[in-house]
Amino acid sequence: MSLVLCNYCGEYGMTDAAEALSSGESALDVLEAGIAPCEANSDIDIVGKGRWPNALGVMQTDAGVMDGATLQVGSVGAVENITHVFSLARLVQSKLPHVCLVGEGAKRFALEMGFTEEAEMVSELGKQDYQNWLRENNVDLSQLSKYLWPKDKDTYSFHKDTVIYLALDARGNLAAGTSTTGWPFKYPGRLGDSPICGAGFYADNRYGACACTNTGEMTIRASTARSVVLYMKKGASVREACLEAAEDLNDLQGGYLGSVSIHAIDPKGDYFVLMTEDSEQDFCIFEEGNPAFRREEVFLVPKYSAT
Ligand code: ASP
Repeated sequence: MSLVLCNYCGEYGMTDAAEALSSGESALDVLEAGIAPCEANSDIDIVGKGRWPNALGVMQTDAGVMDGATLQVGSVGAVENITHVFSLARLVQSKLPHVCLVGEGAKRFALEMGFTEEAEMVSELGKQDYQNWLRENNVDLSQLSKYLWPKDKDTYSFHKDTVIYLALDARGNLAAGTSTTGWPFKYPGRLGDSPICGAGFYADNRYGACACTNTGEMTIRASTARSVVLYMKKGASVREACLEAAEDLNDLQGGYLGSVSIHAIDPKGDYFVLMTEDSEQDFCIFEEGNPAFRREEVFLVPKYSAT
């Protein structure tokens, strides 16, 4: 059973992704078919051209991809002025001996690969939000580190997110992909989990694929995406693996703790999506042979005792 699954932020690209899957395209191409339209749409706040610049008002985006057939990876982080960073991550994977590029180097590589340098990545709404954030917090730009711990965690959690896609193609290949602007008003140069293989994404044809959203600071510490796939390797079902990984997140002490969503699929086409805090969220799933994709609700794990 081939399928493609994305979180609610990726819905805008799901029709294209479903079409790509139905036409027999590879899992990697299906991810790109879904993610690219989201990156190009500035009404989607949290990816590509969007709403959430860093603490200097500059958009820095992250993306990652893993091919479950070969375990090859490509990722980019803190990239400025490039819209299609997921495609860029794929090129890191296919054209370079490296797996990850950040900042100026990633942008340089994008330009070498013929990407267009965008003059402006932050939407008008985003510029207003940034000015409001500066004003409301009386931000001193020479002391940014003072302003990063959110006063109102719920509001902050609501704002950040990532587009994630997982696919299982007709040839049995799995792939995982991410693309995001990361946290709003993050410290310049901050990387979340989306470009970190094993934290924000992982895929292995033999066992499963996983991608995470929300608090990347936690999934990096718990190696969540890799853990989910490893739990499946050790015999857990896709649901059991996600719940086990949520337990690992629950064991974290100190640091910034917030919500995490875990999305996973296995080689048989089973899937499971959970969120670690109470919040209404859907995800989208398209299984080949169905007329269209559908939305389903995530499984809500009880709120963390540590927060
Ligand atoms: N996980 C992303 C990050 O930490 C953001 C998100 O998905 O909310 O940058």
